[in-house]
Amino acid sequence: MQDYEESRKEVNRRTFLNSAMSGAAIGIAAQAGIELGVPTMLEAQTNLTPDAALKELLAGNERFAANRLTSVEHDLEVLKEHTADKQQPFAAVLACADSRVPVELIFDQTIGHIFVARVAGNMVTPEIIATLEYGVAVLGVKVLLVLGHTNCGAVKAAMKSDTVPGQISVLYKHLRPAVEKSGGSLDKAISLNAEHQAELLRTSSTVVRDALKGGKVKVVSGVYDLASGEVTVK
Ligand SMILES: [Zn+2]
Repeated sequence: MQDYEESRKEVNRRTFLNSAMSGAAIGIAAQAGIELGVPTMLEAQTNLTPDAALKELLAGNERFAANRLTSVEHDLEVLKEHTADKQQPFAAVLACADSRVPVELIFDQTIGHIFVARVAGNMVTPEIIATLEYGVAVLGVKVLLVLGHTNCGAVKAAMKSDTVPGQISVLYKHLRPAVEKSGGSLDKAISLNAEHQAELLRTSSTVVRDALKGGKVKVVSGVYDLASGEVTVK
């Protein structure tokens, strides 16, 4: 039987390996900190290529959907070490404000890794463009993901053109292009809306357009399935 000290060493070894493996997964093992098993290397994120950045997002979503999260313990380490005063996220995500779409969690990413903008219906407005341009031009994110989600209340309301209080109906006009092409299918409207908003980003932002031309960023759209936890990217 293993004594206490042996078991403790084994646990430490496994923790180290887990940290090392998640570091390797984001392609930064060689650059920083791996010998210490420190998982919070915020400064190396932008060395990723756009394809690698997208791959890392999707790998994180696989961990989330399979209930194998690694980010939470890393978050605590980041907070404890107070190393989060500088950010170098590798991805930017435009998601819906829906409370069931916690972006960092569903991609299993720790503090400092994703630059997130959220608005009901994950739509592109001048303020959202400005925010994401900051992500691309200043922070150097390598991938921009517009993320819709199943059962989106904003898209549903726009489809019905419900009468709503206050300024809520301001959202409708942004969602109309997708709703009109959806043939009355909510799922289709949600996925078309994510695509439409991604296309708006590609075409209406000079910063994004230039970064795309230079191969510095990738703009993709996807849908998060509330039931399965899985993100499907187009
Ligand atoms: Zn929504």
